[in-house]
Amino acid sequence: MSLNYQSTRNPELKADSRQAILKGLAPDGGLYVWPDMAKSPVDLDQVMQEDYMGIARIVLGKLLPDFTEDEIKECVEGAYSEKFDDPLLTPVHDVDGVHVLELFHGPTSAFKDMALTILPYLMRSALKQSDEKVMILTATSGDTGKAALSGFQDVDQTAICVFYPHGKVSDIQYRQMATQKGNNVAVFAVNGNFDDCQSRVKELFMDEELNEFAKQNHVRLSSANSINIGRLIPQVVYYFDAYRQLVNNKVIKLGEEVSFSVPTGNFGDVLAGYYANLLGLPVRKFYVASNSNNVLTDFIKTGVYDKNRPFIQTISPSMDILISSNLERFLYFLADQDSKQVAAWMEQLKQEGKYDIGEEYRKKMQEKFDADFLSDEQTLQVIKKVYDRTGVVLDPHTAIGYQAAYQHKDEGPVVAVSTASPYKFSRDVLKALNIEDLDEWEALHKLDEINSDILPEKLAELEELPILHETVLNADQMDEAIRKACGELYD
Ligand SMILES: *Cc1c(COP(=O)(O)O)cnc(C)c1O
Repeated sequence: MSLNYQSTRNPELKADSRQAILKGLAPDGGLYVWPDMAKSPVDLDQVMQEDYMGIARIVLGKLLPDFTEDEIKECVEGAYSEKFDDPLLTPVHDVDGVHVLELFHGPTSAFKDMALTILPYLMRSALKQSDEKVMILTATSGDTGKAALSGFQDVDQTAICVFYPHGKVSDIQYRQMATQKGNNVAVFAVNGNFDDCQSRVKELFMDEELNEFAKQNHVRLSSANSINIGRLIPQVVYYFDAYRQLVNNKVIKLGEEVSFSVPTGNFGDVLAGYYANLLGLPVRKFYVASNSNNVLTDFIKTGVYDKNRPFIQTISPSMDILISSNLERFLYFLADQDSKQVAAWMEQLKQEGKYDIGEEYRKKMQEKFDADFLSDEQTLQVIKKVYDRTGVVLDPHTAIGYQAAYQHKDEGPVVAVSTASPYKFSRDVLKALNIEDLDEWEALHKLDEINSDILPEKLAELEELPILHETVLNADQMDEAIRKACGELYD
């Protein structure tokens, strides 16, 4: 056991990689980081010899040193050997000069499957020696919820409560969650927006009475949100795998730099890319792409993070976020691991809703990061432009990242991270193509007619499945709902 992880806000609060996965959040509200992770880089020559699962074993083995090689192998095989509908898992395709990395071939057609298919295995592996159970609490703006439910469904020693903003997810996302089967799953709609859900879940993790109640029931509360290192670390893998594919396809030579454009909400996905870079992946730039909730665009351009602005509902709802939780881990490395500084910024964010990292850190950040955002109208135009030129249909999240990549494609190879299947957002996608006034289900089938990728079966069948979860809560009723679910675990 090596206590290599610690809180971003306090180096004294240490954990090994198993504890970090089970706890999710550090006791002081900080996030677990491994200060020395960059000291033993990943061997790129070795990466070139492997496929996705082999790269996963290399990366996870490095970042989760308390797991044995056999345990990692078991987790990787459980997650990735059968559940994906593309033999490459995350194929890269050239779309008009941009290298599009498709992360939506998993069981729920969204990129969160990349991590949430493996997290339950990592948690069960971390629990092995104990008779405890883990209760996952997840706030979701749409896609995470289903991916987490699907990952944890009927996994021994685990259970899951998912909270999503009532009326603020797409109809397909709603049905994906409300029809979820499993003897260990609970799903709740919460009045408010995603930040309300997420703030309340964060508070409840810190709530002593609730934790005590859970403990007496032999339940440990944990998180499947992207703050958990078990979510973050599996995402590092596809950055290496995309690079491997570019080398194999002779787009680049081994060792050459590439850029990544990442549609961003909680900053988890792009942070995983930054981790890959810390581990030796040659990256020139990260383009952080946002929708009209452009708090990160402003931050990267000015060094001032200011969440005091209206929350805007967009057609890329998984990016409708004003507090990007995982940014804290980036700040930790940006500030040369100065925990006090990170804690101070996070305190300012809590008290005033803003902080300023100052000129020196801003310049340092801008060496590696650039940012841009698109309005809904611009997003629709990009979808249309790409379809007209190539026949490829992008989902709204992906279109935002694609455009940022497209603008920089003459400066060197750019990978645009594609985070969802267009089928998950069929109506808006068709609206972009001037096909309007269809309901979401008609749109799904219409899109199937014009798109070259076939409609995934798991989406096609949703319309017919019975609704199993209908409860709508206020944020102050979430506590009670969790207690009830904990109580039921050992029935
Ligand atoms: C979650 C999500 C994002 C944003 O990813 P982060 O890790 O939160 O930055 C982008 N697109 C889709 C489709 C998502 O589900």
